Amino acid sequence: MAESRFAVCSMCRKVIPVGAVFYRCSVSTCNSGRLKLVFCSLACWDAHLPEARHRNAWAIEEKAQRQ
Ligand SMILES: [Zn+2]
Ligand SMILES: [Zn+2]
Repeated sequence: MAESRFAVCSMCRKVIPVGAVFYRCSVSTCNSGRLKLVFCSLACWDAHLPEARHRNAWAIEEKAQRQ
């Protein structure tokens, strides 16, 4: 069902369903603008770090809410 889809992981493109736990990057530029980054797992957020070159970042765990 399309309506149970919250977002797609920015790293591996896996669907994050509504109600699932997902991760955001703590860096504000990763959460603003047109493309908000969301990650299905800590491993995917980890993979984001080397290409984003953050000095100080952590993952924020959130629950996917219906928008
Ligand atoms: Zn992923
Ligand atoms: Zn980031």
